[in-house]
Amino acid sequence: MPSYKIIFLGGGNAAGYAARAFVENGLNAGELAIVTEEPYCAYERPALSKGYLLGAARLPGFHTCVGGGGERQAPEWYSGKGIAYLTNSRVIKADLAKKALTLESGEVLSYEHLIIGTGARPIRLTESAVPGANLGGIHYLRDVKDADALVAAIAVAKETGGKAIVVGGGYIGMEVAAGLASNGLTVTLIFPGSHLLSRLFTPELAAVYERLYDAKGVKMVKGAKVVGFGGADGKVSSVDYKDATGAVHHLEASLVVVGVGAQANVELFKGQLEMAAGGIKVDGQMATSVPGVFAVGDVAAFPLASVATGQVSLARQEHVTHCRLSAAQAAKAILGLSPPPYDYLPYFYSRVFALSWVFYGEAPAKAAKVHFGDMTEAKCFGCLWLGTGGKVVGAFLEGGSADDAVVLKGAVAKGLLLSAEAVTGSGAAVVAQLKAKL
Ligand SMILES: Cc1cc2nc3c(=O)[nH]c(=O)nc-3n(C[C@H](O)[C@H](O)[C@H](O)COP(=O)(O)OP(=O)(O)OC[C@H]3O[C@@H](n4cnc5c(N)ncnc54)[C@H](O)[C@@H]3O)c2cc1C
Repeated sequence: MPSYKIIFLGGGNAAGYAARAFVENGLNAGELAIVTEEPYCAYERPALSKGYLLGAARLPGFHTCVGGGGERQAPEWYSGKGIAYLTNSRVIKADLAKKALTLESGEVLSYEHLIIGTGARPIRLTESAVPGANLGGIHYLRDVKDADALVAAIAVAKETGGKAIVVGGGYIGMEVAAGLASNGLTVTLIFPGSHLLSRLFTPELAAVYERLYDAKGVKMVKGAKVVGFGGADGKVSSVDYKDATGAVHHLEASLVVVGVGAQANVELFKGQLEMAAGGIKVDGQMATSVPGVFAVGDVAAFPLASVATGQVSLARQEHVTHCRLSAAQAAKAILGLSPPPYDYLPYFYSRVFALSWVFYGEAPAKAAKVHFGDMTEAKCFGCLWLGTGGKVVGAFLEGGSADDAVVLKGAVAKGLLLSAEAVTGSGAAVVAQLKAKL
């Protein structure tokens, strides 16, 4: 039975950053194996809904850790460091008591330390039994295989003048709709909220992006729920949706992309590990309830302190910065470096068309929302969420520089106190104002 000191299960975004942290902190050749069902070494997954759809990002160009400003770790990087990278190797059983993983091939691997980084998978409309949801031509986007299928479908739709429908107005739906429109397709974006990205955007922020989508010819159907798909020869040709009044509408579609959220891949560990928040419960070292077993990235439910209240709760974060940092945290813990407890400030970013935004912290409904900057021309603008006593608990900026993002991060991390009336002027002026207070 092949045996390793450390196995990283899941060769996703976190795996690449864990490998880097192990190497930087004294890993010996032959100690680490990464086991993944995908045919590729770790890559920067966010590129799939951005550059990949435009033909700009292709492997090996976006292997980790290029997104985090590090070296591009192509397969030779791993072999050169004595790390075994087992691609096309799906784990079908994890026996944590025996410290053994069984691969689909029947091979069994054993370990001393295990890091679980199995990530998440898209929620499929077949799971909620939406009629016709299993038809061909209905796409989801999680990995390179999905992205390749979508790119091929875009090419066909371009040739045939086909109509594309995107289901979901979150960041995946928004980015994919922008990618399809940039490819020249006729796009309709259907979502249940009253405005785009309603989990984060204020109506005022959403209005800026909605104007842009409108200008790019993307039709938005708000307050709507997809209730069925029609098709011929096993392929989707229409979408039925219900509007807020309950009326059902029918739209032609040759290509559908669904982005309605994700769920963590935890099934292998149910009954073996303590679970929380839909993921695997870990402590500040990313250690699970079983000694020697760690969980990182999308799958980990870790202690997260609220910026607004200071209250600590177990939370999952499906974001690449958390996956990178938590991977490094587990690597250091396994190497006996006893890192300080994981201290994470939520951070999100997205890019649509020529726009690009960042957000740090939280966006509590009760906070005062103070918008600033040029929201008409959609140049540099943003919003601050001010909690009790005017404490900055959330900060959003569109069109800023990397240095500006550092200022926003600092404003939230430090909990700057501001009065709403004092936040005025251009985006640059408000960033300068925050910088002066740090
Ligand atoms: C299209 C898209 C766009 C995104 N854009 C952004 C963005 O703009 N900003 C941002 O912050 N975040 C973004 N994210 C989220 C970010 O990519 C994830 O948070 C990150 O990939 C999580 O890393 P991970 O290693 O935990 O999981 P993943 O990267 O999902 O990796 C999990 C790996 O485990 C493998 N695996 C699972 N089960 C098994 C098994 N049983 N056996 C073997 N292998 C297995 C999977 O195949 C996969 O390779 C985006 C995600 C997607 C899908």
